[in-house]
Amino acid sequence: MNLSVNINDFLKLNEVKSSFQRIKIYEYIAENKNHPTVNTIFDELVKQIPTLSKMTVYNTLKLFREKNIIQEISIEDNELRYDANVKTHGHFKCRKCGEIFDFEYNNSEIVFTEINNYKIEETQLFIKGICSNCFTMNK
Ligand SMILES: [Zn+2]
Ligand SMILES: [Zn+2]
Repeated sequence: MNLSVNINDFLKLNEVKSSFQRIKIYEYIAENKNHPTVNTIFDELVKQIPTLSKMTVYNTLKLFREKNIIQEISIEDNELRYDANVKTHGHFKCRKCGEIFDFEYNNSEIVFTEINNYKIEETQLFIKGICSNCFTMNK
């Protein structure tokens, strides 16, 4: 079974009406794991799908978010990125190479003193710094 067939089923399962463009957009985010921006997704996919419009990409991402099959992350104010991993995980952005790395953490390991009796529904943890690749190169 190829990945497109799986995504087709996955979209249906999540009550998203499946279409070729929607499959391709989800596939791009899920396969590349590069936390792409709208522009990256559009620029890459329009090479394969010349009829694709940026509005379609926007609307599809909005729909995917409503169905909770992708998450939107904003590490920089002016730059929204998309992630097919919807489980709680943190992001580390390297200020040298600009890459974003996923890392796992557990909400129960963090002490939220001031809000400890609040019901936490979503956390986003961002760390900025220098990744190990860039750090080693500097030495
Ligand atoms: Zn780096
Ligand atoms: Zn991520």
